[in-house]
This record gives sequence, C-alpha cells and structure tokens, in this order.
Amino acid sequence: NTFAEIDLGEALNQNIRRCKYVKPTPVQRHAIPISLSGKDLMACAQTGSGKTAAFCFPIISGIMRGQFAQRPRGARTVYPLALILSPTRELSCQIHDEARKFSYQTGVKVVVAYGGAPINQQLRELERGVDILVATPGRLVDLLERARVSLQMIRYLALDEADRMLDMGFEPQIRKIVEQMDMPPPGVRQTMLFSATFPKEIQRLAADFLSSYIFLAV
Ligand code: AMP
Repeated sequence: NTFAEIDLGEALNQNIRRCKYVKPTPVQRHAIPISLSGKDLMACAQTGSGKTAAFCFPIISGIMRGQFAQRPRGARTVYPLALILSPTRELSCQIHDEARKFSYQTGVKVVVAYGGAPINQQLRELERGVDILVATPGRLVDLLERARVSLQMIRYLALDEADRMLDMGFEPQIRKIVEQMDMPPPGVRQTMLFSATFPKEIQRLAADFLSSYIFLAV
C-alpha cells in the first residue's frame, strides 16, 4: 500500500521518496503491478488521477533494469526504447517533467518533441541520446520522415489521453507510428493505453495495438 513495498529499482524508489510520493493513487496501485508483470494494459484514467506516474514508473524501472540489444550509434538516427504519445505540447511537457524528475540518477534519458515549436532545438536534444521519447503524433511523424528517429527498438509504448488524440484527428498519424514498431520477434513490445472514455474507436485501437491486455477501470 506504499511505494516502498513496490520494488521499482533502488534509484527509482529513491526518487519516489525524494518527491514525497508515499501512497500510490488507485490507478497507480493497480496499473504498476500489471505493467511490471509485462502485460499490456488499457486503463481508464482522468487528469489528476496520477496516470502519468502510472505509466512512467514501469517504463523507467524496465529500462533501468533491462538488458537491451546494443543500439546503433554514430548516425543521425536515434533509437529510443520507449515512446509516450500525448495529444498536446502542454501535456507532453508535463509528462516530460514528471519522467525526468523520476529518472534522476537512473541513467535513463528522457527527451520531449512537440509541434508548433522550432525542430532544431529538439533535434539537438535527441542527438545527445534518448531512452524515453515523449512526443505529440504530428511532430513524431516529421522526425520519422526525416529519419532522425527510428522506432525499431521500442519496447514500451504508452498512449496518453488516447480519446483526445482521436478527437484531434491524430488516428492516421498514430497508426503510421505504431506500424513502424511492428518488427519480429512479436510480443516484445509492451503497450499501455490510457483514456478517459472508451468509444468504439478506442476499443478498435486497443484491439489493433494491444495483445491480451488487462482492462483497468478505477
Ligand atoms: P496526473 O494525473 O498524472 O497528472 O497527476 C496529478 C498530480 O498528482 C501531479 O501533480 C502529480 O505529481 C501528483 N501525484 C501523482 N501521483 C502521486 C502520488 N502517489 N502521491 C502524491 N502525488 C502524486
């Protein structure tokens, strides 16, 4: 019933203590163990529920403790291990702030990329290395088309506020993005879909992107 009882790895547990998160919120209490067990997840979560930490903690923990194939280096293309998609610049920046706070001294690097701002600064950040990329769909498609980001090494995918992304017309971009991750061996990617509502379109996304997932409504 406290974060101290959940083994997320020493550096992350320490950051959680430092940030004075003591008790997991309901969505965290259920989502984190499911994600740590390696299962896909579709979760119903509103703003303010603590959903950001619910998907960031398992990702940071997994990257911190995981063994991953050597990523190509030297070229201009970067190969993040995790992708967090969110609908807006504001939300992406909030997720980036939270993810960075908790990846302190874990060796995990977080970079944010969003539209409506010059791309050059974001390219320079990416060139310095990235494990977790937080991005809005349009800007990420741009980065993929410029071959500055490759999604071939993605092991964790989180879709935040999926219903809002669809309302904003991002479904084609999201599908294009996820298609670039589908590489063998199958089942290596872990996917988390967070949404406040569950219309048909979201259920279809879940059916297409998740494999034998757990549905969480708190
Ligand atoms: P979110 O729903 O992810 O936007 O989080 C809402 C706010 O609650 C943010 O300011 C978080 O920093 C904070 N928060 C999230 N989880 C916890 C927790 N377990 N304990 C204390 N604060 C939290």
